[in-house]
Amino acid sequence: MSRKDIERAAARSPGTDRVDRVGLVGAGVVVAVEALWLLVGLPAGALVSDLGALAVAGWAAVACAAAARRHPARVRRFWLLLAVTMALALAGRALWTIERLLGNSLPHTLPTGLIFAASLVTGTAALFLSVTAPRTTVGRARTLLDGVIVGLALVPIGWLLIFRNVSLADLDEPLRTAGLLYPTFDLMQLTILVAVMVPKRPVWLPMALLGASLTVRAVADAIYVAQVAAGTYQTGTPIDVLWPLSYLLIVVATRMPAPRDHGVTEDATEKPLPPWWRVVLPYLPVGGAIVATMLARDVDGHTPMPIFLSMMALLAVLALRQGLAANENLRLVVRLRKLAYADQLTGLPNRLAFTRKLRIALRGTDRVAVLLLDLDGFKQVNDRFGHTTGDTLLSGLSRRMRRAVGDDGMIARIGGDEFAVLVTGGRPLAPERLAERLLAALQPSPGEELVGVHPSASIGIAEYGPQHISHTDLLRDADIAMYAAKAAGKSAYRRCTQGLRESAVSRAELIADLRRAVDEQQLHLEFQPIVDLATGTVRSAEALVRWRHPALGMLSPARFLPLAEETGLIVSIDRWVIHEACRAAATWQDRVPAVTVAVNIAASHLRRPDLIATVTEAIAAAGLAPRALTLELTESALIEGSDVVLDRLRQLRELGFRIAIDDFGTGYSSLSYLHRIPATELKIDRSFVGRIPEDTRAYATVEMVTRLAGAFDLGVVAEGVETERQHEAVAAIGCLQGQGYRYGRPASLAELRTVLADTRPPDVPGVAESGLTLT
Ligand code: C2E
Ligand code: MG
Ligand code: MG
Repeated sequence: MSRKDIERAAARSPGTDRVDRVGLVGAGVVVAVEALWLLVGLPAGALVSDLGALAVAGWAAVACAAAARRHPARVRRFWLLLAVTMALALAGRALWTIERLLGNSLPHTLPTGLIFAASLVTGTAALFLSVTAPRTTVGRARTLLDGVIVGLALVPIGWLLIFRNVSLADLDEPLRTAGLLYPTFDLMQLTILVAVMVPKRPVWLPMALLGASLTVRAVADAIYVAQVAAGTYQTGTPIDVLWPLSYLLIVVATRMPAPRDHGVTEDATEKPLPPWWRVVLPYLPVGGAIVATMLARDVDGHTPMPIFLSMMALLAVLALRQGLAANENLRLVVRLRKLAYADQLTGLPNRLAFTRKLRIALRGTDRVAVLLLDLDGFKQVNDRFGHTTGDTLLSGLSRRMRRAVGDDGMIARIGGDEFAVLVTGGRPLAPERLAERLLAALQPSPGEELVGVHPSASIGIAEYGPQHISHTDLLRDADIAMYAAKAAGKSAYRRCTQGLRESAVSRAELIADLRRAVDEQQLHLEFQPIVDLATGTVRSAEALVRWRHPALGMLSPARFLPLAEETGLIVSIDRWVIHEACRAAATWQDRVPAVTVAVNIAASHLRRPDLIATVTEAIAAAGLAPRALTLELTESALIEGSDVVLDRLRQLRELGFRIAIDDFGTGYSSLSYLHRIPATELKIDRSFVGRIPEDTRAYATVEMVTRLAGAFDLGVVAEGVETERQHEAVAAIGCLQGQGYRYGRPASLAELRTVLADTRPPDVPGVAESGLTLT
């Protein structure tokens, strides 16, 4: 509703409007005249005061009733209750006037007391019906209790200020004492009003005026009580004008426009939190009350009975209020938890709940399977029939799926039309069976087929045994499989395979991923032992790089090194490998002082002048000697190399680094060229080693290369030794060292350490030190 609408709704016929305005002015004049009359002290002040109060209270009741008729339904009951309140004030004052005219000097009798008490009830109720009042029962109770707390806390304070020197015996009539509670109730109402009004902005003007009216009345009541206690009260003094003034403020309030409709946006989640002082407010007077109670004790240390009673009541109300708050907090926590972990529409666990469960499951030792289900064609349903139909369909389908899954898994709604099922524990049920059950459950029943709004589903399955995998990897695998299922046609399921995984990642994506791999620490090293064939000792290992791709899992160098070479990323990869390998070797030194680690250097890296800086930095950082690092270069890389490259190799050699020619025998290097390369060892390619001893030509080649190496004063490593026979053959030929699955597969750093330890020669003097010094 716009402001204009409100004004139009609030518009009234010119006639009634005039009456209203005249009424307001009239009431104002009455108050002004009464004030003057009483101030100047003209005769019959008491009567004037009574008549003035009756006139304004009466008009206020009429004006409130008129406002109730005029205003929108939201505030109608608020005005009606205020009208009743004013009518009660009128009645009470009328009774009072009659009593007074009958000669009662303090006409506060039981009936007037009851009528005023009733007006307090209706006035308080009106506050709770204002637009800004709390909507919930708990909220209302809390606000009411806050008011009661402040009101009760005022009793000891008021007592201390007003009644300290009045003995109870002087207050002959208990009703008078009851009348003295008015300021207490005023303050209670005022507290409630502030609590109700202030947290909402903009403040609705009539509420502010009501607050002003209450304040005026509180002041009047306080003075009245003080005077009655002191025995000085008389009707017809200037303070009498305060009551009609408080009614006049309500008449003014009725002239204000109706509050703006905040409509549907007025929702609990958007409600601002109350300011801190609003929370503390009710407790401030409690402190005052405690101090007042202590001060009010008489000489014997007794606490006056009214104070004692009010303090006990205060304690009880405080306890109630705390209990309410604690209970509310608990319920809020429960609700929040439900909100956080449940899907609002279907009531199923949501994505958050699902991933939480999945992560917990992955920490265990059981197999974990995830089924990812996407409804095909659900979007069309939404588009054609609207979201309400879509929602109904969705909750219906989710019920059927939940039934289909039963106790065999946990189904969650993890997206608009995406569901996931988690299967854990040592269940015999294959995820495929569950997928079939889900698809069957989604088959339209005969009636539904006619309507034609029935989507089918595609299901992707990913399953892992007890091994390290992140929940994101598992979900991604399920996602890949789900798309494969979609591609296969509707109502299908697929299980994720390595092939699917790889086809899901394009070459361009792989290059992009590789760029991040070094920074995001996805690379990792494995070490393969190199064995001294004579002693069986392991004093060297080759570092081999692996890539733990976020989507494809562990990739071998063959999968990504060609890409790395093409893009130049190989240099940063090699650098990382060199540093890591040196760091690793440094940790082996305590077991094998003469340890060496071999790293592979790409051809393009060899062509870069900064290679020397890289390797010297790496050994320095690890605290190794240069001879602890072997650089493996392929034969082909060396053949391509220019004189500059040869020069660089010579420098490396002079610095003390070891240089191995890797995959020797595959690159057709001429013997003369070999002579120029400052190598320290040859690694005979595994294509030869793998064929011995049966293949005589291969055998001859290995034999020849070994002899050749001896002639050039080079060490020899036989690569790819897999079998016992191959081992015996290369040992018989006279190879110094061997590398291959026969001795150990590439393994983690920790595993290599155990090999290094176990094979430490018992007591061969000099061996540990001489080690791999082949030159
Ligand atoms: P390479 O330098 O000849 O490394 C030996 C390869 O043979 C390794 O393969 C190793 O796992 C494998 N191997 C070892 N023993 C046996 C065996 O008994 N039988 C068989 N069939 N294979 C065996 P991997 O780790 O796949 O590495 C392949 C190639 O990738 C390496 O060949 C090397 O040229 C390159 N490479 C590996 N790591 C790096 C690196 O950090 N930087 C560079 N530039 N290249 C690397
Ligand atoms: Mg190598
Ligand atoms: Mg090799």
